[in-house]
Amino acid sequence: MRAIVMSRHGGPEVLEAAERPDPVAGPGQVLVRVAAVAVNRLDIWVREDVGHAYAARLPVVPGYDVAGEVVAVGADVADVAIGSQVYVHYDYACGRCVHCLEGDEAACARYEVMGVQRDGGYAERVVAPAANIFALPEGLSAASAAAAGSVYLTAYRMLFARAGLRPGETVLVTAGGSGVGGAAIALARMAGAEVIATASTAAKRGRLRAGGVERVLDHTAPGWADEVRGCTSGRGVDVAVDHVGRATFPGALAALANGGRLVICGASSGAHAELDLVDVFARQVAIIGSSDGSRRELVEVFRLLAEGRVDPPPIAAVLPLERAAEAQALLTSPDHFGRVLLDPRLSPSQ
Ligand SMILES: [Zn+2]
Repeated sequence: MRAIVMSRHGGPEVLEAAERPDPVAGPGQVLVRVAAVAVNRLDIWVREDVGHAYAARLPVVPGYDVAGEVVAVGADVADVAIGSQVYVHYDYACGRCVHCLEGDEAACARYEVMGVQRDGGYAERVVAPAANIFALPEGLSAASAAAAGSVYLTAYRMLFARAGLRPGETVLVTAGGSGVGGAAIALARMAGAEVIATASTAAKRGRLRAGGVERVLDHTAPGWADEVRGCTSGRGVDVAVDHVGRATFPGALAALANGGRLVICGASSGAHAELDLVDVFARQVAIIGSSDGSRRELVEVFRLLAEGRVDPPPIAAVLPLERAAEAQALLTSPDHFGRVLLDPRLSPSQ
């Protein structure tokens, strides 16, 4: 099969198109023909080997947000139908620790991710345990599922399981034009929250306003946290959702109401930030880490998408596998908006 293989860390040039043996569905496994794989920031961090939490096992086929069609199942797999449209969940957890036993696989100490420690979806085919195979609900396309999967799962866990969002609360979403940001905005609005979003460029702010977000601010402008407080009559927001890190963390913290919760799932602008400890205890704010989501949360997210309670993210581009480097570069361009997918069924020249 055609695949993109990463044998060393580095720039986009380490994403090499290669012929690989077709994977085979062993006992307990399912073979999926990939119809869409989303390109994510994490793919770039893994390629560049930044972020110690994501040490790759090289060589590896990148890509963890995969949807497609089941083409073969292992002999002992009874409940997955050949021909069904599925999302391939990316987590590999131990299944036996207290976190796994509680259905909270993302907290497992032996957690591994497809496309990082196991071969992923920048390929024509991918093999995964049957427990990772989720049938797509009626009406949800493979492209929408790949575009929505990880970003909606991440945002869902952040808002509900981690930050405990309640109806009528006010939510700040920094970098609202990103995949996770857009999902957080949609879920918070669905839950009846008031949303204030930020974006770093005028074009992205325009896209957010066009999408119905009334209060959109520029988090690169000095004093933007005061502007957020101004939007809430000086009180501050109940929940702030951030994955930008160093550039927005101090502002997001300052924008919290007393007793507010700042939930973080990334640090794309830098992993080290200043923190005033007195501010944390005097105002009784909480700083909460969140990462990925559980299988149960994935089922809940797909149900919301299938019911039309939230929309799949906009898709900015669909490219063939061989243009993986270009696809990753798109993510980092300043005015980028929407999800970028690879479709391995496209010929290399498309
Ligand atoms: Zn475990």
